[in-house]
Amino acid sequence: MTEEAPKSSDFIREIITEDLKTGKYDRRIHTRFPPEPNGYLHMGHAKSICLNFGIAGDFSGKCNLRFDDTNPEKEEQEYVNSIIDSVRWLGFDFGPEPLYASDYFDVMYHAAEYLITAGHAYVDSQTAEEMRENRGTLTSPGKDSPFRGRSADENLRLFREMRDGRHPDASMVLRAKIDMASPNINMRDPAIYRIKHAEHHRTGSIWCIYPMYTYAHPIEDAIEKITHSICTLEFEDQRPFYDWLLERLAEGGLLQRPLPRQIEFARLNLSYTVLSKRKLIQLVTEGHVRGWDDPRMPTISGIRRRGYTPEAVRNFCERIGVAKRDSMVDLSLLEFCIREDLNKRAPRVMAVLRPLRMVITNYPEDQEEELDAINNPEDPAAGSRKVPFSRVLYIERDDFQENPPKQFFRLAPGREVRLRYAYYITCERVVKNEQTGEVVELHCTYDPKTRGGDSPDGRKVKATLHWVSAKHALRAEARLYDTLFITPEPGEESGDFRKDINADSLTVLDPVHVEPSLEGSVPGSTYQFERMGYFCVDPDTTRGKLAFNRTVTLKDTWAKIQKAQK
Ligand code: ATP
Ligand code: MG
Repeated sequence: MTEEAPKSSDFIREIITEDLKTGKYDRRIHTRFPPEPNGYLHMGHAKSICLNFGIAGDFSGKCNLRFDDTNPEKEEQEYVNSIIDSVRWLGFDFGPEPLYASDYFDVMYHAAEYLITAGHAYVDSQTAEEMRENRGTLTSPGKDSPFRGRSADENLRLFREMRDGRHPDASMVLRAKIDMASPNINMRDPAIYRIKHAEHHRTGSIWCIYPMYTYAHPIEDAIEKITHSICTLEFEDQRPFYDWLLERLAEGGLLQRPLPRQIEFARLNLSYTVLSKRKLIQLVTEGHVRGWDDPRMPTISGIRRRGYTPEAVRNFCERIGVAKRDSMVDLSLLEFCIREDLNKRAPRVMAVLRPLRMVITNYPEDQEEELDAINNPEDPAAGSRKVPFSRVLYIERDDFQENPPKQFFRLAPGREVRLRYAYYITCERVVKNEQTGEVVELHCTYDPKTRGGDSPDGRKVKATLHWVSAKHALRAEARLYDTLFITPEPGEESGDFRKDINADSLTVLDPVHVEPSLEGSVPGSTYQFERMGYFCVDPDTTRGKLAFNRTVTLKDTWAKIQKAQK
């Protein structure tokens, strides 16, 4: 076990380093990631996963994946499966099986009976309304329940009746007996068990009482001998109860010391999206997106389908770091991380998204040839491939302008440009649709002496365009994505995040034409479409037709110039 602080440190790693020095946990480090299986994981969870598993990795410790499945009503096996899949995809190892809070229901029940007998818990028969009224406010103390004085025997009898299904939902609850006048509302006799006649996704109908999250969580941590229980800041006010409960159970001999320690950190907020399962569920069920794994979703399954790599996500989580203060991370940082990763690994190919036909009039009709193209200039080991060239090509519609403004250096009437890996070509004639005036075809000539893309006489051109050979290209579909919301903090102004949904977050281009080397690409493969961005093959791909998601754009200097002009 290492006692040195890891390379990238933060306040949590500093606490752990100190605990290792003092031998507080017998030099053991054990963390956990405890999702509730009531939705798909999102980027905020990725931060928590990278932190908990990352710490375990840095300090030769362990990290559990534990499902906090104490609420029977909203939890489903589908969510359990997707969460397991997401954690594994991110590259973390939690052993062969995850753990489940529901496996500890017996222990939690016995702990509750112990608290009753020790005078630390009572059954309250007030209505929910009365309990709310008597809880007090931030500025005024609460009032004791008239049932607070029940004897331990009576409490035990009632609690067992609750367990045995003799009382309807919400007719009574078990509460910790702490202090109704505490300045911390969470310490005013919090509920620890409630009646819920509901089927649980794992325990079926064995139980009709379920532990409250705030009661269950510390016990789960203690049972698993977690050393550092890391959670988000909203649990800070719960920490006194976390400690109170574990202390009582340790006093009673039900738990062994040292007890786990809760540490809070600031949650991830990401601009132009929402990171809340409740809101993400709304996006799915109300049909604003196609599903949990829609590539516009900030879910792990969504960004994965979009073409993000686990390395990029882990790198992002490392860069944002861990702090005690809430802040907003700019989406562009996430995009930077995926560009950086794909730049190293994604093969370059040529694909034309918005095709414009180009005929090379002096290239013989029956001729074709193959040109050498480099697969990845960042990775010499990636080698090269052949791309076919012929008389009819497609180029990008945006690469031509009939009346080019000053800073537009690409193709225009009479102008010469380079076709990547191929030849210099000159635009001789523009063919238009007579009715609409739309440019439908360009007639160009090529200079055979410029094969490979260089001119022997040393003359220069200002632009290099990508292209595909019309008769060799594969037809495909491309899905371009914009942010799901039009504001950095959706709902900040109106209070309803759905009012800020971007109506143009998806653009489908069909047909796009891609070079034939992409034949047979499998879902998940990522490419850089030269000059157009990073793309990934979508699972919607069929044998006859490839579907691509644009993961992220490349930097577009022209767009920047246009923006600056506006
Ligand atoms: P949500 O608020 O989206 O519903 P949650 O906190 O209810 O999320 P849990 O399943 O309880 O979801 O979360 C599991 C773990 O992930 C918790 O430890 C929680 O603190 C952490 N977590 C959730 N959201 C974020 C976030 N945005 N940033 C960092 N950690 C998060
Ligand atoms: Mg939660």
